[in-house]
Amino acid sequence: GDLDTAAADQVRADDRAHVFHSWSAQAHVDAIPIAGGSGSYFWDYEGKRYLDFSSQLVNLNIGHGHPKVVQAIQEQAARLATIAPALGSDVRGEAARMIAERAPGDLDRVFFTNGGADANEHAIRMARLQTGRPTVLSAYRSYHGATGGAIALTGDPRRWANESTGQSVAHFFGPYAYRSAFHSDSEEQESERALQHLRDVVQLQGPDTIAAIIQESVVGTNGILVPPPGYLQGVRELCDEYGILLIADEVMAGFGRCGEWFAIQHWDVVPDLITFAKGVNSGYVPLGGVILGPRTYERFADRPYPGGLTYSGHPLGCAAAVASMKAFEDEGILDNVRKLGETVVEPRLQQLKDKHASVGEVRGLGMFWAIELVKDRQTREPLVPFNASGEAAAPMGAFAAACKKEGLWPFTHMNRTHVVPPCTISEDELTAGLDIIDAALDVADQHTAG
Ligand code: PLP
Repeated sequence: GDLDTAAADQVRADDRAHVFHSWSAQAHVDAIPIAGGSGSYFWDYEGKRYLDFSSQLVNLNIGHGHPKVVQAIQEQAARLATIAPALGSDVRGEAARMIAERAPGDLDRVFFTNGGADANEHAIRMARLQTGRPTVLSAYRSYHGATGGAIALTGDPRRWANESTGQSVAHFFGPYAYRSAFHSDSEEQESERALQHLRDVVQLQGPDTIAAIIQESVVGTNGILVPPPGYLQGVRELCDEYGILLIADEVMAGFGRCGEWFAIQHWDVVPDLITFAKGVNSGYVPLGGVILGPRTYERFADRPYPGGLTYSGHPLGCAAAVASMKAFEDEGILDNVRKLGETVVEPRLQQLKDKHASVGEVRGLGMFWAIELVKDRQTREPLVPFNASGEAAAPMGAFAAACKKEGLWPFTHMNRTHVVPPCTISEDELTAGLDIIDAALDVADQHTAG
């Protein structure tokens, strides 16, 4: 009605006049005013609903407006909204204990941060102090956050404009069989050759100068790259050989996204440090952290850890995390991810690949999938050039517009669309969303060579 239109107009006006947006040319931002959300859907002020196939930056693992998480935040806000990090908090302790109980190996302590980037900042600070070495290795195809250290770790083009951070970082190629940097023709070869390449980088960079290798357990925004069998085990062995710490960045892949609490549990590898954020409480209140074990703890047992944050272990964030982890278990959400990933998403994506000329490859696990779009399936030329913007990116824009028109909010990045809905999604919703993607791929097909 008129009132709703007036409310939407106000949101738009305030946004245009006063909000400075992430990653954007400010004069070109046109943010759709959003009025609310529930479960797998959110909606605007005119009542148009979107099925959320992005989980809002792959964040909302438990879906919009989960009543138990909302209630936990409300109760905590009424009881004690904030408390300094040096004081004890029941919900902070409970959240840390629950995370430690679910973490692999001997990882048993949590340093809480406000999000993923600062979790990575603290993980590399810990690694540098623990090893007394300066350098951190990370993959070109990675995103680790937008603060000084984290953006230097980031391998993708978002690093370029921030290059002068003075961080000692070197990048390497991880496994990516579909576009192998190593000319492999099997997963085994890709795994072996990527490990040999990483060993060469370590050697040439100087093993005694390397504090840590940071690795997304499953590479997220840069393509949902699931490591081939043996790869993460091999990285672990290489780290052990040279006294390098392994940091698993689970900011996007963790907390149920891949059907386990932590994605790295698929490969039985225990890292030295895990960083997390997003799915820990689905971002209802900003929260991230570093999970560490006894060896890192020991370094700071009698010497102070030189780092902290006003909001470390914020009670609202921790109360939301406790409620979310409990709901995940009470409602069988990990099982939902495993079951629907295997029985609904995977077979349907294979069908889409058979049906659409624009689909080069589909890959993923759990509720974490990529559809990689190409101009030509023979040459594998991407549907849009690497890091394209403006007119050059128009075919991806047309695909996304077709999804949105039919009420699906997609996640797109470069020449890919990712299927990353809430982990709580139902089979019917998932099928409805994949039907919309199927139809929108007809639009992408029009931009192929064949
Ligand atoms: N690491 C990974 C793997 C991510 O996907 C992200 C965000 O998308 C980050 C770190 C940064 O997290 P934040 O945006 O909470 O700082």
